[in-house]
Amino acid sequence: PARSSRELIRAEETSLAHNYHPLHVVVARAEGVWVWDVEGRRYLDMLAGYSALNFGHRHPALIEAAHRQLDQLTLTSRAFHNDRLAGFAEAVAELTGLSMVLPMNTGAEAVESAIKVARKWAYEVKGVAPDQATIVVAADNFHGRTTTIVGFSSDPVARDGFGPFAPGFRVVPYNDLAALEAAVDATTAAVLIEPIQGEAGVVIPDDGYLRGVRELTRRTGTLFIADEIQSGLGRTGTTLAVEHESVTPDVLLLGKALGGGIVPVSAVVADRAVLGVLRPGEHGSTFGGNPLAAAVGSAVVDLLRTGTYQRRAAELGQVLRDGLAALTGKGVVGYRCRGLWAGVDVDPALGTGREVSERLMAEGVLVKDTHGSTIRLAPPLTITREELESSLAALEKVLG
Ligand code: PLP
Repeated sequence: PARSSRELIRAEETSLAHNYHPLHVVVARAEGVWVWDVEGRRYLDMLAGYSALNFGHRHPALIEAAHRQLDQLTLTSRAFHNDRLAGFAEAVAELTGLSMVLPMNTGAEAVESAIKVARKWAYEVKGVAPDQATIVVAADNFHGRTTTIVGFSSDPVARDGFGPFAPGFRVVPYNDLAALEAAVDATTAAVLIEPIQGEAGVVIPDDGYLRGVRELTRRTGTLFIADEIQSGLGRTGTTLAVEHESVTPDVLLLGKALGGGIVPVSAVVADRAVLGVLRPGEHGSTFGGNPLAAAVGSAVVDLLRTGTYQRRAAELGQVLRDGLAALTGKGVVGYRCRGLWAGVDVDPALGTGREVSERLMAEGVLVKDTHGSTIRLAPPLTITREELESSLAALEKVLG
């Protein structure tokens, strides 16, 4: 007999590493913005797989692309060419305005790959002395969980107990151009930042910050690496979050939604002057650029090419912003919102982010807390106005 939610959660306790603390909901089925648990209860998914589900669960065009590809070819490894990869790379290049793609799988892998590319570029193009390259990053960053990446995290929970860490990183406050300028020197290969810091609580820098980063990196001959793994692909109302400041980075990192919520797909995107430093044998991945990933990724780009999702995120983002403004002072003490993406600071007297998330779950709305009393709202971009308003009504109720 099928096991109940309670039994499955208990089984996980003993058989799974405890590196997550999930809400006590066991999802068994999903469609669009809705998920159903094992007992058949329905929930509105206001997290959307940390933006991996920007197009909702099981978007018909993406499922069809996956099915079609499953019936043809799923994996070759890069030892051979596959007939889907060129089209995928061309599509991503056209979407982003950059010319070359390094396909990987997860976000952390894309970040790691960009670090390697930036260092190689620094030695071969910028002329940095061997092994002296530095990369400047922002405090409160989240770029993934590998040892190199957590080594430059400023979150003790992410770092502590996992050293020793790779050298060569400098951490400066986010949204502080003077600090950034002071940290960049002749050894600096790249500045690596999130255009909006997602895991930090949807922290949006001041207008002009990204333009300032672009100007500084250009002036100092340093690469600007924008990690748009969470902010990119429609979430903020534009294809990329850097578009809000009309900025083009040298290196763009994509992930999450690039795989349509079906397969892990990430990419390092840059021009030949940068990605051209990689030569055969210097970097790779067994699954990176596999035909199933390329087919789904191409279908994702097709969806974004219509502009529909970006437009929805911009329009409904205004509804989200207005709703949060109306709740300010009524349990909400602050919020940051861009497109269909918000960090909401709840009055700590009303509970932790976790407790608020649990209360929302009881109301049929799934969200995730970030830090302290902050919850993050990031619904699928396919959400309707009515569904979005119902989630805001649920938030009002649990804060009331
Ligand atoms: N970069 C950013 C900005 C992210 O938000 C995340 C994940 O939340 C990552 C990188 C890491 O992605 P992954 O979990 O696929 O390794």
